[in-house]
This record gives sequence, C-alpha cells and structure tokens, in this order.
Amino acid sequence: MSTNKARREAISAIASQPRLKGTFDFRNEKIDVIFGQNVFSLEKMEKRLPKNVFKSLKASIETGAKLDLAVADVVASAIKDWALEMGATHYAHVFYPLTGFTAEKHDTFFEPNGTGTLAQFSGKALVQAEPDASSFPNGGLRSTFEARGYTAWDVTSPAYIFDNENGSTLCIPTAFVSWKGEALDKKTPLLRSMAAVNRAASRVLSLFNNNKKHGFISASCGPEQEYFLVDSRLYFLRPDLYTCGRTLFGAKPAKGQEFEDQYFGTIPERVLACMMETERECFKLGIPVKTRHNEVAPAQYEVAPIYESANVAHDHQMLTMTLLKHVAAKHGFVCLLMEKPFAGVNGSGKHVNWSIGGPGVGNLLEPGNDPHENAQFLAFCTAVIRAIDSHQGLVRASVASAGNDHRLGANEAPPAIISIYLGDMLNEVIEQVKKSGTASTSRKGGHMTLGVDTLPVLPKDAGDRNRTSPFAFTGNKFEFRAVGSAFSVAGPLTVLNTIMADSLDKMADEIAEALKSEKNFNAALQSVLKEILQKHGRIIFNGNGYSEAWHKEAAKRGLKNLRNTPEALPEIVSKSSVEVFERQNVLSKAELESREEIYTHSYVLTTNTESKLVSEIARTMILPAALKFAADLTNVEKTKSGGKLRKQVIALADELAEAADALDTLREVAKSDTHAQAKHSCDKVIPAMLKVRAAADALEEIVSDEYWPLPSYQELLYLR
Ligand code: ADP
Ligand code: MG
Repeated sequence: MSTNKARREAISAIASQPRLKGTFDFRNEKIDVIFGQNVFSLEKMEKRLPKNVFKSLKASIETGAKLDLAVADVVASAIKDWALEMGATHYAHVFYPLTGFTAEKHDTFFEPNGTGTLAQFSGKALVQAEPDASSFPNGGLRSTFEARGYTAWDVTSPAYIFDNENGSTLCIPTAFVSWKGEALDKKTPLLRSMAAVNRAASRVLSLFNNNKKHGFISASCGPEQEYFLVDSRLYFLRPDLYTCGRTLFGAKPAKGQEFEDQYFGTIPERVLACMMETERECFKLGIPVKTRHNEVAPAQYEVAPIYESANVAHDHQMLTMTLLKHVAAKHGFVCLLMEKPFAGVNGSGKHVNWSIGGPGVGNLLEPGNDPHENAQFLAFCTAVIRAIDSHQGLVRASVASAGNDHRLGANEAPPAIISIYLGDMLNEVIEQVKKSGTASTSRKGGHMTLGVDTLPVLPKDAGDRNRTSPFAFTGNKFEFRAVGSAFSVAGPLTVLNTIMADSLDKMADEIAEALKSEKNFNAALQSVLKEILQKHGRIIFNGNGYSEAWHKEAAKRGLKNLRNTPEALPEIVSKSSVEVFERQNVLSKAELESREEIYTHSYVLTTNTESKLVSEIARTMILPAALKFAADLTNVEKTKSGGKLRKQVIALADELAEAADALDTLREVAKSDTHAQAKHSCDKVIPAMLKVRAAADALEEIVSDEYWPLPSYQELLYLR
C-alpha cells in the first residue's frame, strides 16, 4: 500500500492546475496613479490640513520631533476622514517588537452612541496606544506587574491603508517603548541612530563647509530581498517547512543549481503573475519596488526597491515581506523568507545597501567632481573603515540568527569574518592615503594631493563584482551582504548608523586637534586620515572571502571570526559596544542586555523546536515508511537485489532510530543559563540533528518512492 497518496495528489493537482485569471492589468492602469494611493502622504496632508497644522506636522516629520496633542487632534480627524473615504473600518498601531516581526492591534473606528454607531478617532488614538506589552519579549526590562508599554506614532513614517479581500485597515507606524521610555522594539533605536548620524555628520561637514547650512543628514537604505516560492500543496505536506520555514530533511536532488541556468533566467509565468501583483500592492503603499529577477537557486527570486531614508526603508521592507507572503498565498504559493530553506542550494540574503547624505551635500559616499568633494568623500569612507574595524564583532552580531548560521560561511554567502571590499581603484587610493597622507594613482601616473587634485574616476560596481565580501563598496554606497533574508533591516542599520556616527564624532575631534598645529585644512585632514587608515586598514580585503587562505590571513590580521550565533551575540554587550551605543544615545546598557538575552533565548527556542520536529518526523513519518518498505521486501528477500536492499534499509532505519534517541537525550540536557544552553544547542544538538538527517536522506535515496511521505527537493524546487 502506498503512503505517498497525498504527495501524488498534490503533484497531479499542480500538473493540471488552470492558470489563475489576472485580477488587474498593468497595461490598463497608470502606475503613477496607483503609486502611493493608500498612503496619507505629505501632499494629501497639505490638501486636508489647515496651513499652520500642516506646517507644524511637516516640521515634526523633518526633525522627528513629537507632535503636540492639539495638532494631533486635527491631524487625526483629517486622517480619519481620508481613511473612511477609502473604505477603512479599522485602525491599527503597527510596531516592530524584538521578535523581529511586525505586530499590530486593530480597533474599529465605530463606537455605539445610543442610536447607532459613530466613527471616532482622537488625536490621542493617533499618537499613542497602550497594547498590553507583557506578552512581548523584553529581556528583563520590565517585570510583568509593571508590564505597561505604549506605542507612539513615528511621524517620519506616513500612515497607510492596508487592504484585505474583506476590508481595509488604517495603519499607523509606531515606536514601542516601555512605561519608562526604554526601547522594546527595533524602530526606536533606529530613529535614535538616525539622529546620531545627523548630528555627527553635521559636525564633520561644518569643518569642510565653513559652517554652511546643509539640512538634515540622513542614512539611506536600499534592501534587496531574496526569497523562495514553493507550491503550497507541497508545502503543507512538509511539517518542517510550515513549522520552521526550512527543510530539516531532504536528499540532494539530481538537478540542483549546477547548470547555472537560474540566475536572471526567464521568470516562470505563474511566478511572474505573482510578482506583478506583489509589486502592485507595494506601489499602492508607496513602496518604490524596482527590480525583479530569478536568483541563483531554482525557485529563488529577488525583489529590490529604490533606496529611501533608512527608517522609511525599514517600514517599507517589513511591509514588502508581509505582502510577499500574502500575495503568494493568493497564487497558491508559499513565500519562504528563511535564510536556508534547502541544503545544497543557495540560501537567501537581504543585501542592505547603505549610504549617508542630505540636501545640499548629496550622497557623502559618492566620489565627487572636484577636489573638495573628493576629500570629503575620502573622509567619510575612512570613517566607515574605522567604524567597521572598531566594531567588527558588533557588526557580525547584527546579522546573527539560527537561520543565518546555515548560510554565513557557506560557499555561496559571505564568511562570518567581517571585512570591507573596496575594489581595485579605490583601494589603490586608500593605500596611498595610508602611506603618505596623499593619494596618487599609478594608473594615471599622476600624484594627487587631498583637497587639491581630483580623484581618478572610480568605476561603478556593475552587479556583483565580489560576491564573497560581507561589506562591499559599490560605487556610491556600501552593500552589507551578510544580512539574512528574514531579518528586519532595523538591527543592522542601527549598528551601522551608530558606529558611523561615533567614528565621525572622533574624526571631528581629531581634525579640530590637528588644526591646532597645522593651519592648512587639507594638510590637517591628510594627517588624520593617514593615521586612521594605518590603524584600521587591516579590515580591507579585496580577495576571495571564501578561500581557506583568507581565513588564515584574517586570523593573522587579528580579525574576529565569530562562526555562529552563540559566539557572535555576546558582542552586543561587549565593553566597546555598550560604550558606543551609550555615547551616541542610541541604546543603554540595560536595553542592550535585554536584546542580547532575547536573541540568545530565541536561538535556543529555534534549535529546540527544530530538533523536536526532527525526532518527530523521523519517528512518525520516515521510520514507518522505511520499515513498511522493508517488511514488503520480505517477499523478495531470496533474490540478490531484494535481500541486499532490505538489509540496507533495515540498517539505515536502525541508524535513524538510534540517532533520534541520541538527539532526544541531548535536547533534554538543561544548562544553568541561556548562554550555556545556546552553546549546547549549537555544539551538541545541531550536529545530532544532522546525524538523524543523514540517515533519513540516505533512506530517501533507496526507499521506494511509493512509500516516501515527504515531497522531495526535486518536487519542491521544480514544480510550479
Ligand atoms: P546592483 O546591486 O544589482 O548593482 P544597484 O547597485 O543599482 O544594483 O542597487 C541595489 C540597491 O541599492 C537598490 O535598492 C538601490 O536603490 C540601492 N541604492 C542605490 N544607490 C544607493 C545609495 N546611495 N544608498 C543606498 N542605497 C542605494
Ligand atoms: Mg546588488
């Protein structure tokens, strides 16, 4: 009797599925009309608000200052009118707790008033709400009896309407803080770090610009999102996928990605329809998605927006992940955002493109057209180099998670060692500054003095010049490639902004100090940059990050190699991390400790869940299938092939059962604290899970397909 009935049925259903009929047609729509349709944008505010209220709100948006309650009442009333016109019946404060996910609590506008219902929405309901915070992780920041937390509207991020088949909800992006004002979320520190960048960058700029006005200096982010789409009918036959988001079993498919025929390949029709609908939903919410393509692994894709101010990019990125999942479901797919859903093919990352700049000065990481701008560019680049080198461990910790551990250091993703790739030309320039404080280029044969001569034209990185680098300069921005696909960009961005602000602050001090003995600004700058680069140039590496040689070389240079999450996370509370976060007023020691505790705990929980599921699937799905097959082979035991096969199956089945027992024993081991538990999970439990998997995958290769209950890699990756 076959045990794979459900699998067979799913496959026939996919094979005979009718094409989904389109619900819209981009040819008949104008994207510029749809774009931002569901956003309460500045233009809408200006139309609907009294002049003075609009002015006050706009000032808050530009500086991030809190809105005063009198203004808030007027704004709330205007937002309510707009939302009701758009058909919204509910509103929600949306926030980003430390789970890394989006959280929301919905309330209806409509309240009974004796005769019927009346739509209500006060200024207070707009700017502040009090979700019961006790069920969110707080890492010991609050005891449960004082569990109050509140969400506060982040005026720098516009309210929007989220549509569902059955109705619409007005969403208000908020920060989530404890009663005492401690950050309980990912947005609050991001906003604080944006303020730090502005303040510190302005200090350095004022030295360059002789105190000329330059407006708010902001960090920008363009996050490229990789993801997998698998057919939902197969997905629901895999408890590992729907519980953990990744496969815990699966023999290597005959065809993987070795043909190199996926990357930029023709997008399958059903997938393209799904992508277009996701893009349309993004457009409605003002998310400027631009790029779509097939990624390297089969069933893997990418979507990338045009970059925006980092806090808005963060909210938009969270929304994009939500939309990818929602729309995929409509098309009969499940979108996998997990970093490594399949062993043996590429995992997914989220490249975080990051730069800083502002009105009046443009992008400060863009090489300029004149000597003055180039000197400024080299100063900001040097500040990045020092920031990353001084806080390698923290940067590494900002991308640490159970899921990303399976990806980092694998041969398709950057290594766990943090280094910076500059490209040949910029590297040459930086090398010169490091040696002599001036830059020359051997290519042009000339000699360049900072602030006097111009830089050679640096080539823009066309595509992935060096895929092996975790942190690469790509023409006018840095691309942080080690970030995992399921991550919120808030964590990595907060770290980058904070350490950059600190490095710039130091630079401002150093230049001021140098100017005491050296009257010429360019000469003073040169001496400062030279010293920084001599000390921190070790972080620059332009070679192959995958190579064994680099691991040795990095060790020689004293660079950190934090191979897994339990090794990386303690960096969040290292002395230098606490100092830099406190100096920049981004996170306090207590807030950092709570974060480190939560992330460590989350690692333990993830490993625990996965390991339980490994035992469960091994015992209740795989072992029975293997034993049934072995039993049925008794009839042919006398034949040479039948006898041999039966022996092999039984041997592997025994191995599987033993490995599952061993895994259970290890999982039961209770350590005295979360950190010891995390280390135990990493060093003992995960290898034990892999042993169970090895036996199961070997069985998958010899047990008759008729008996196998789990959809195979082949089916998951290729059927659509
Ligand atoms: P690729 O990496 O494929 O060469 P691009 O470099 O053009 O593509 O863009 C990758 C992402 O980087 C996009 O989201 C883009 O908007 C973003 N990006 C481009 N310039 C900047 C910048 N100055 N700051 C931050 N992000 C940027
Ligand atoms: Mg890219």
